[in-house]
Amino acid sequence: MKHVRPFLLLVFATLAGLALFVSRSDANPETIKRIAPGVYFREGDMEQGHCNNVIVEMKDYLIVVDANFPSGARAAMADAKRISPKPVKYVFDTHHHGDHLYGNSLWTQAGATTLAFKGVAEELKRFEPARWEEAAKSRKDVAELNQPGPEPPKQDINELQYVLNDGSRKVEFRHFGWAHTKGDGFVYLPKEQVLCTGDAVVNGPFNNTADANVANWPSVLQAAGKLKVKFVLPGHGVDAGPELIAGQAQFMMELHKAVKAGMDQGKKLEELQASIHLPETVKNWVSERSLKTQIKDAYDQIKAPRQ
Ligand SMILES: [Zn+2]
Repeated sequence: MKHVRPFLLLVFATLAGLALFVSRSDANPETIKRIAPGVYFREGDMEQGHCNNVIVEMKDYLIVVDANFPSGARAAMADAKRISPKPVKYVFDTHHHGDHLYGNSLWTQAGATTLAFKGVAEELKRFEPARWEEAAKSRKDVAELNQPGPEPPKQDINELQYVLNDGSRKVEFRHFGWAHTKGDGFVYLPKEQVLCTGDAVVNGPFNNTADANVANWPSVLQAAGKLKVKFVLPGHGVDAGPELIAGQAQFMMELHKAVKAGMDQGKKLEELQASIHLPETVKNWVSERSLKTQIKDAYDQIKAPRQ
């Protein structure tokens, strides 16, 4: 059977090349799906570490949600060109993590302005350039930029909301507090009822809680969930409806509740990691390996609350 594989790979590669505009509900990395007129969801390939991107077409320009890793930035840039000849004017970093922001300099070199809520710049000061240097060891796309660290967003948003409205479309950048990270930003299109969530909402067992505020996370999602939303475009995993926000909030609530209850009974971290099983209702977000890390993060955060 071995000789069949290269042929199959070729078939799949050809199909992938044709699959720029697809519409299906299962995973389809590195493809673009039209969500509403002028609103496109680009699913990142997690094997390359890429986050998802959203491309929003305005009258004279494009807005891109998340800078991605450098390799993802290049791929998203190429797709943006295929969608529209309009230039990318703004790239919004939903948060400070490398897979959402390390491509910043590529976008600004191409003429875009990068922007984010001020908590993003604050967290970059705290964690960088250590994480950049670490990433450059294993990622060629980061290393070959030859930068001393990530390029911070060019524009900080100091309010809880920032609006771009060119008459053709209204785009709201919203901050509801600390969930996945301190600087978490959402992008909301009120007319189209589209919500881009960054990693405050993910579709699958992809929750990274290292820089999070697990206790506050459900409150952030409760605020986001008050918006009129039809399409949820998460930071990782496939697009979904508003039920994804509620499910992600439920996962964080169950995680926090289970760890807190165990700690109240005097259990040690290792005991919690060995004994906690979250309910079936949140299984979309659970993988055994990541749950152990999430339990540890929640445990540390309950011991030393973040605010
Ligand atoms: Zn993240």
